Amino acid sequence: MWTVWLWAKAIRLLVLTTFKPHVTHLYNQVSIKPGQRLHMVNQLYPYIVKFTEETSTPRSSAERIKPTKRPHEKSDNPANISTSSHTDHHAMNSGSPPQKKTQPPSSDKSESAGYWSQGLKVSMQDPKMQVYKDDRVVVIKDKYPKARYHWLVLPWDSISSLKVLRSEHCDLLKHMQHVGDRMVQQCPDAQKRNFRLGYHAIPSMSHVHMHVISQDFDSPCLKNKKHWNSFTTEYFIESQDLIAMLEADGKVTVKESTNELLKLPLRCHICRKEQSTIPKLKDHLSIHRSS
Ligand code: AMP
Ligand code: ZN
Repeated sequence: MWTVWLWAKAIRLLVLTTFKPHVTHLYNQVSIKPGQRLHMVNQLYPYIVKFTEETSTPRSSAERIKPTKRPHEKSDNPANISTSSHTDHHAMNSGSPPQKKTQPPSSDKSESAGYWSQGLKVSMQDPKMQVYKDDRVVVIKDKYPKARYHWLVLPWDSISSLKVLRSEHCDLLKHMQHVGDRMVQQCPDAQKRNFRLGYHAIPSMSHVHMHVISQDFDSPCLKNKKHWNSFTTEYFIESQDLIAMLEADGKVTVKESTNELLKLPLRCHICRKEQSTIPKLKDHLSIHRSS
């Protein structure tokens, strides 16, 4: 009896969602409508759930996505991450080492990239990741923090990217900034630590999110030039600049050359001195911390 229960538990995957997922498993494809429940009971785990459509209405707590882990993921703790990189996006975001062993549970790379880029939608519903929430936004811990303090502020409204922002979102963005400021104020180290609040010009993860990040960049998850340059060049758009752009132009425009910023030489964000490698940059940063 006990074994049967365990077996049943192990193979049961329950997804609650307001999105319209396409569930692809082998040759079966199932479409469900927003608000419907999808119960997948089968021993042929894992499935790929693809979100192909987004709603603009906030989700109620009864319509939450059940948190799932990315393939091969073991722990939220950056120190314990032994996960792998499926795509460049993953490498850009996670700070986890490149993939060596198993392939993702998909025959198609772009499919797994798409799946992975939905991770914030899962994390924002996970009480363990949430540090603050109100009726408009939620703040979560960044799963691969690039500094000692690194949070993400997300609206409950499903806004896929900066591209879809319009003037009418300004109020929401101001609220996100206000909440970010409050996060900084409540931080015990706020006095001695600088923070920046802003957006990556070309985010890798779906669902608009504002970074609130301390400027120590003291984290094992900060591993490469892309990580560094995404927070220390114009690739990082200050929240207030984004709001100003939206108020002036009614939309957010990103220069075509923006991606090139990620290839710039490593330069200290405090004294602008160039560093040849990430380990040397990290050593250099520690000098600023102790001075
Ligand atoms: P970007 O899309 O470039 O603005 O950055 C996305 C941020 O999300 C990065 O700082 C990642 O470390 C972080 N991240 C990636 N996956 C997750 C996840 N599943 N939960 C929380 N944070 C995540
Ligand atoms: Zn320096």
